[in-house]
Amino acid sequence: MSKTPTGDFSLINIGQLVTNNSQLGEGQLGIINNAAISIVDGKVAWVGQTSNVDKSLQIVDANGDCVIPGFVDSHSHIIFAGDRSNEFAARMAGIPYSAGGIKVTTAATRAASEQELKINAQRLIAEMHESGTTTIEIKSGYGLDVETEKRSVKVASELTVEVTFLGAHVVATEFADNPDAYVDLVAGPMLDACLPYSKWIDVFCDKGAFTTSQTKKILEAGIANGLKPRVHLNQLEQGDAVGMAIELDCASADHLTYLTDGDIDALAKSNTVAGLVPACEFSTRSPFYPRARDLLDAGSVVSLSPDCNPGSSYSSNMPFCIALAVREMHMTVDESLYAATMGGAKALRRNDVGHLTVGANADLVLLNAPTYVHFAYRPGVPLIKTTWKDGNVVFAKGASA
Ligand SMILES: [Zn+2]
Repeated sequence: MSKTPTGDFSLINIGQLVTNNSQLGEGQLGIINNAAISIVDGKVAWVGQTSNVDKSLQIVDANGDCVIPGFVDSHSHIIFAGDRSNEFAARMAGIPYSAGGIKVTTAATRAASEQELKINAQRLIAEMHESGTTTIEIKSGYGLDVETEKRSVKVASELTVEVTFLGAHVVATEFADNPDAYVDLVAGPMLDACLPYSKWIDVFCDKGAFTTSQTKKILEAGIANGLKPRVHLNQLEQGDAVGMAIELDCASADHLTYLTDGDIDALAKSNTVAGLVPACEFSTRSPFYPRARDLLDAGSVVSLSPDCNPGSSYSSNMPFCIALAVREMHMTVDESLYAATMGGAKALRRNDVGHLTVGANADLVLLNAPTYVHFAYRPGVPLIKTTWKDGNVVFAKGASA
């Protein structure tokens, strides 16, 4: 490839193009071989065979390599300050993970300026672009007071449209003796302060965090104020909140390390995406991974995300999640790629990302590989050559994008 363009261009000689549109190509991934794609005004303008491409646009040669839609990461916690590598090392030496570690990050985040929080998040977003991610949901949740939560969602809103208010990450230390008073703060003044910057509301519903009834109260307060709900469920123990998440029409229920057969049936019949975050099981040395195979076999929509956060999963890398999904959760490579792209789009209820149909956002990734199978076949190897978001280069290997 001679030059990496931004703006209008045609990418030709794509050995394997994943469109995620089964009407455009083969299988669920809608694969077209010997393909080309034209990008105009930041959107997909045309998809087809290289022999039929519009040659009036600037031409880029993919040299037979694979092109996929940009990854859609529907679950990240990248507004924070500080580092918890010591806690990680201790955990690997045998101390179990608990939700309480979040409080360490809270102290550092409260002390950080808006600019410091933004610079740290931008550093992580650059990593995400480098590993092929183009749509990023960002949660608050390390402030746990009105002022810092507001600062967190404000910073997030400058970096993405998918901003999630997660004041209910854990109960703030100041409210340890009266968690219901913290629930009232989150569902009242904190929600009011964060509302102008947020699209989503989320709660960590689990052991050591919030009960099902507290979760319901907070999500309903957000919904009443126009936010859309999503939820963290069943990471640390088998809870009883899957039905509640479905009843409130949560766009996704994330983690799901513990699930009953009844939970799986209910999710499969619902509009709630099962948001799996296997890098978290990996990083916490969880005794097992979510039952992805059972979820898929039951017909549930699954998404994948690294769950980037400084405590339980400090990875921003979607290809790593694909490798884990294949190796540890018995998902096929095709299912894993679909979950990392369309699954994430469905978890964010977006129609314009996660696929390369005409009219979709021109969010696409050129690999240094002939096929996306290499994400699982060559784990840990950097396989991204170029990442475009809205037709603009946000990462190019060997260049400072
Ligand atoms: Zn999370």
